[in-house]
Amino acid sequence: MIISIKLHATRAEIDAVCERIADFGYKVHSIEGEERVVIGAVGTGDVTACLESLEAMPQVEKAVRISAPYKFVSREFRDSKTRVRANGVDIGGDEFVMMAGPCSVENERQILESAHGVAAQGAQFLRGGAFKPRTSPYDFQGMEREGLKLLRKAQEETGLGIITEVMSDRDVEMVAEYADILQIGARNMQNFALLKELGKTSRPVMLKRGLSSTIKELLMSAEYVVAHGNPNVILCERGIRTFETATRNTCDITAIAVLNELTHLPVMLDPSHATGKRSLVPALSRAGVAIGADGLIVEVHPNPEKAMSDGAQSLSMPQFGAMMRELKPYVELWKATRVEEAVTA
Ligand code: PEP
Ligand code: MN
Repeated sequence: MIISIKLHATRAEIDAVCERIADFGYKVHSIEGEERVVIGAVGTGDVTACLESLEAMPQVEKAVRISAPYKFVSREFRDSKTRVRANGVDIGGDEFVMMAGPCSVENERQILESAHGVAAQGAQFLRGGAFKPRTSPYDFQGMEREGLKLLRKAQEETGLGIITEVMSDRDVEMVAEYADILQIGARNMQNFALLKELGKTSRPVMLKRGLSSTIKELLMSAEYVVAHGNPNVILCERGIRTFETATRNTCDITAIAVLNELTHLPVMLDPSHATGKRSLVPALSRAGVAIGADGLIVEVHPNPEKAMSDGAQSLSMPQFGAMMRELKPYVELWKATRVEEAVTA
């Protein structure tokens, strides 16, 4: 069950609800936001009697039964799509969101050139890793704090929002100082210490699907962040590992439609890691728009041949520009569908 408490309820009124829930044999899990208090009740008890009793309390706005194992992130909890706001842009809103930039921040010139290039083509966010999860310990590991400072400089020059990866719970606070969105990489999707720490910040989090994770596991990980206090979660499909070797990963494009049915959280697509090949990125991007993703996160590099990571899947600036132009009619259709959905909802 999820119980929403009315605005301006007193501490004593909130505590009374928690006690009532506990009396019915449920474990209380409350999320106290700046404005609202929402209480999760987990366990086995007489649901119907408990719901009835709670709804009779004047401080309770709504009490609903949620059958999915992920509670706060499920469509049962909230039917309308959540908008996650970052740097003045709503992700999950009426605007199709484009995040673009290199895999890694490499040096000042590279990141500034990337930022100006993608901003000129209409991207709203600059991506770029300062902490890189590399398969080999001998590969470039990222510029760390120096990289974050360069991202800030790029933001000052272009106004773009910044999305960058945080790999460890120890770095959440530091990365949150520089980033508008904290990216959680596929390899860390089930790093529960990190997920719990992310619950303590109000910075939006983009959670990428793990290499071998099911959709349900992705949603359970999102639930961790929300249940620990941060409702600003965005999901991202980036391909999963299968027997197929023609592409770096296998894009589970259907996951986007499935997620849109199961959760109210915004859903992004990363066509770069999903394919590993720049020639395939525009086609998959079209598919992402058509299936109803809220946006794309794409790797773009001023000189892909010289990239320190993921050059083969990075678009050059002219290629990114061409893709943006090609996507326009698809995005127009996407917008019209959003308006229609909002009217019929
Ligand atoms: C990345 O975005 O550069 C990255 C490492 O992605 P993923 O975690 O999806 O592999
Ligand atoms: Mn990459």
